[in-house]
Amino acid sequence: MHPDTYDIGIIGAGCAGLSLARELVGRYGGDLRIALLDPALLQHPEKTWSFWTHEPDRYAALAEGIWHKVSFADHRGALTEPIAPYSYVSIPARRYRQHILDELFRLPSVHLRTEASRRYGPSGRNYLIQTEGAEIRCERLFSSVHPPATRPARYALQQHFLGWFVETPEPAFESDTVTLMDFRTEPGSGAEFVYVLPYSDRRALVEYTVFSPRPWPVGTYEEKLKAYLHRRSIDRYNVTASEQGSIPMTDYPFPQQTADGLHHIGLAGGLARPATGYAFRFIEQDSALIAASLQDGQVSRFSAAGRHQFYDRLLLHLIDRFPERVPGIMSALFRRNRFADILAFLDRSSAPLDEARIFWRLPWSPFLRVLYESYLRP
Ligand SMILES: Cc1cc2nc3c(=O)[nH]c(=O)nc-3n(C[C@H](O)[C@H](O)[C@H](O)COP(=O)(O)OP(=O)(O)OC[C@H]3O[C@@H](n4cnc5c(N)ncnc54)[C@H](O)[C@@H]3O)c2cc1C
Repeated sequence: MHPDTYDIGIIGAGCAGLSLARELVGRYGGDLRIALLDPALLQHPEKTWSFWTHEPDRYAALAEGIWHKVSFADHRGALTEPIAPYSYVSIPARRYRQHILDELFRLPSVHLRTEASRRYGPSGRNYLIQTEGAEIRCERLFSSVHPPATRPARYALQQHFLGWFVETPEPAFESDTVTLMDFRTEPGSGAEFVYVLPYSDRRALVEYTVFSPRPWPVGTYEEKLKAYLHRRSIDRYNVTASEQGSIPMTDYPFPQQTADGLHHIGLAGGLARPATGYAFRFIEQDSALIAASLQDGQVSRFSAAGRHQFYDRLLLHLIDRFPERVPGIMSALFRRNRFADILAFLDRSSAPLDEARIFWRLPWSPFLRVLYESYLRP
């Protein structure tokens, strides 16, 4: 079989594969021959990607909503604050994919292939991808498929959730405010909260979210969602669609590059922030770095190493060992800090002094226990 040859091979046209293809095409136009493979290329993912950013205008054409205020709620009530200089943006994955595919379809140098990679690896100075009926040779290979784990993680939690897209006959939601975390769940629930993305005062994504080792059966989230909506006096509604998922919250050292030079991107490259599950903006930053560095014949990557990795480990340990303390710690975090400062911290763009202030205002005892258990206990 004669292999098809490309400069770049990208396995997986999910968030990371599409974002990388877009950056490469934006920077190099038709100069790079790119193969983008995904058997689900033409399917429409039912996900939304939401994030906060300084540059909401950049996403205006794709966004289903842009908000300037967020709220946090616990049993003491709801607290709402503007988040300037940030805005919170939500993009339907379907729209994001279509927008990028439209761009890529125009370039004869980009081949979109609805094939699954069966096997891939180095071959001489290049890489070879084998699919059901073809062989693809490329100079550089980026894959969003998870390689098998090589060792167990110390913390292997999941952020798992079921979201309902809900429509109500009467106004039921604050349409200008995203609820990041609402801990007004059943008493004693632990690390469980509801996230509300209101597209209007009568339509919202209401998501029951849990930090724990394993996802639940669908019926359990559904019961919790019904109970939450009832407590909010929302009893008349239609569920028009749903979104279910699970994102790793782990300290597993996802290898971004293998010994033979293959690059893992997206979640397979450890781009989801372990403590929050947010990945979209880190994936975008990674894609921009990769594309820019290729100009010098290298591949630079977004790295989460450093003090933020340390904070993530502390939080994971805390969620793992003391899930019942999570609501109280989140209350202290949101009630004692400016929301914009919290978002900068979660985005890894805060200054060390701001981070010290944030930690100073949290209850110390669980963190001291976590530090002892993580680093000092023999
Ligand atoms: C339901 C859900 C909602 C999320 N919401 C947010 C959010 O709001 N904000 C945020 O920041 N993050 C969010 N995330 C986390 C993260 O941004 C997404 O998981 C994102 O899709 C990760 O991108 P990815 O490219 O790594 O994986 P994916 O988007 O899952 O893409 C992987 C692709 O690889 C393809 N593939 C698999 N096997 C093969 C093969 N053998 N050959 C070729 N292709 C293959 C798959 O078909 C898939 O299209 C969410 C995650 C989920 C699951």
